[in-house]
Amino acid sequence: MKKRRPTIPFSGWMLAVDLEETRKIQNQKGTPAYGCDCDLCTEWKLAYKKIIPEKLLDEFGRAGVELQSPTDLYGSGSGDEERTIRVTFHFIGKILSGLNGATHDDRFDYDGFPYEVVRDNPYFSVRVIPQQETYVSAPNCEAKGNSRVLCIDMRLGYPAKYVCENA
Ligand SMILES: [Zn+2]
Repeated sequence: MKKRRPTIPFSGWMLAVDLEETRKIQNQKGTPAYGCDCDLCTEWKLAYKKIIPEKLLDEFGRAGVELQSPTDLYGSGSGDEERTIRVTFHFIGKILSGLNGATHDDRFDYDGFPYEVVRDNPYFSVRVIPQQETYVSAPNCEAKGNSRVLCIDMRLGYPAKYVCENA
């Protein structure tokens, strides 16, 4: 039986997503954010629907990525301060088109695959990158055929009030 691998637009990318394989690697035990109850992870679960632009929320859903369960999440900010976080997710599939190749990100003084700035305020940037091109943690998994383990990597800010409004 041919596995379903729909083509899904995701921000500036066009992705082919192995839905079944992707489902298996969501919320995987042992990943850094698995079961984490630190303040930022707790806030993420409360407020991610406000933090992520609506169009992307929909695209994440179509890709079968479980937004309440990041692979990893870390950052800074607490109390009334704005938070600045990096949050990563993984899926299995293929990048059909979109930004690729090394560039320089001035905001984070970073050489590598580019982030696409989706929103300036609150700042929200995202990139889709083959896991093997990153240094981030990934679920324990292998991709078969011409599929690869791919990382959705977001760097973003959000105001503390997002959390209070959800509390
Ligand atoms: Zn955490």
